[in-house]
Amino acid sequence: MVNWPRIRRVLPGAERAEPPGPVDASALQSLTERLEAASQVRLGRSLAIRHVNTGSCNGCELEIRALNGVVYELARFGLRFVDNPRHADVLLVTGPLTHTLRQALEQAYDATPDPKWVVALGDCAVDGGVFKGSYAVLGGTGMGVPVDLTIGGCPPSPERILSGLRALLEANRA
Ligand code: SF4
Repeated sequence: MVNWPRIRRVLPGAERAEPPGPVDASALQSLTERLEAASQVRLGRSLAIRHVNTGSCNGCELEIRALNGVVYELARFGLRFVDNPRHADVLLVTGPLTHTLRQALEQAYDATPDPKWVVALGDCAVDGGVFKGSYAVLGGTGMGVPVDLTIGGCPPSPERILSGLRALLEANRA
């Protein structure tokens, strides 16, 4: 049974989410347009990203979700997240590589068509981060599949993620 008296007592004092920080709209626009332009040059179309979580605390996921939210709205520049690694150009991997999810990461990698890039996103994906040394953790993404780019931070900001992806595509221009 729902305890409405208790809920009424607790809710007014409950902590509210922090408002989003300031975003430099023109810098964001320029960054994302460069990323899309690099994608068109390298792939002839927009970049398709498959997110793979190999054991994250979900902090990095919140920043990835922000990219799709109303502030960054990545989709308006054509960049998109896909559900199937067979449709992806980039595997965006978060979290330390756990023993449990190593095979899933390898399968996602094998299913992604060439040319493909693997981005280790966040300190945990770089080298295990705060989970390094745990009995459940192998280390960073590189312990399972070859990594093309690492983006550090705990978690990295959306701007940092976009900058990393842009640098990856511009460095791999045909
Ligand atoms: S880098 Fe930080 S935010 Fe990202 S999964 Fe690790 S602990 Fe969580």
